[in-house]
Amino acid sequence: MTKQKKKYIIANWKMKLGQAESLTLAKEVKRKYRDGGQAEMVLCPTATALAEVGKILAGSKIKLGAQNIFYHDSGAYTGQISPKVAREIGCEYAIIGHSERRKLGETDEDVNRKVEAALKNNLIPIVCVGETFREYEEKKTEVVIIGQVTRALEDISLKEGQKIIIAYEPVWVIGSGQAVDHGIFQHIVQIIVHTAVEMGAELADKFEVIYGGSVDEENVREFIVGNISTGVIVGNNSLEADKLIKIVENINEL
Ligand code: PEP
Repeated sequence: MTKQKKKYIIANWKMKLGQAESLTLAKEVKRKYRDGGQAEMVLCPTATALAEVGKILAGSKIKLGAQNIFYHDSGAYTGQISPKVAREIGCEYAIIGHSERRKLGETDEDVNRKVEAALKNNLIPIVCVGETFREYEEKKTEVVIIGQVTRALEDISLKEGQKIIIAYEPVWVIGSGQAVDHGIFQHIVQIIVHTAVEMGAELADKFEVIYGGSVDEENVREFIVGNISTGVIVGNNSLEADKLIKIVENINEL
């Protein structure tokens, strides 16, 4: 029997919760989470809550992820988040290049360096790519995605057992309540796979593609069924334990 691939549910809490709220939500998610399916759930709290949420999750199957890391491990970099320390406090994943960070000035070059830093510190990079509404309207989606994927993966090499997750998150769909049509997503998955494979055989079987943008318990299956992709990033609907758990259950039932 072939082993089923993991299905990633990346809960991106952004900067939407206070410290006490983050800890309460982490405890509730942990209490309600039933392991046993193919789901790999990753909680990504705000940076200031990472360590405490990590302590809550310790010993459970739920993983911890950072919403951002810097590309140096240590030094005179005021306000940055060390990938080495993120790993030290229990992170196994790091979101890199989220559109909300790109909007604040993060460049493709930063993303590339952060991917390298994540891998060096044994963090699994979740690289976000996606077009703005304007780019979508101007029919530039493919060009934007190919460009972002190519630059993010440039000169990246992976050791045995390492992997990269690429998340397609159309910027204009994030937080809108209306996910992109799964047929469009399927097409983008092909573009991403083709781009990564073209970059070298080494990467070919070492990356996963997931979807992000207004995922909820109703639409989540569309992005996973038939192995269209291996997971989702969930923003708004990860802020309530019951909604998040329902998303996980719906994936596990597939
Ligand atoms: C996100 O910001 O990564 C995201 C997927 O948000 P939402 O689910 O709220 O669209």
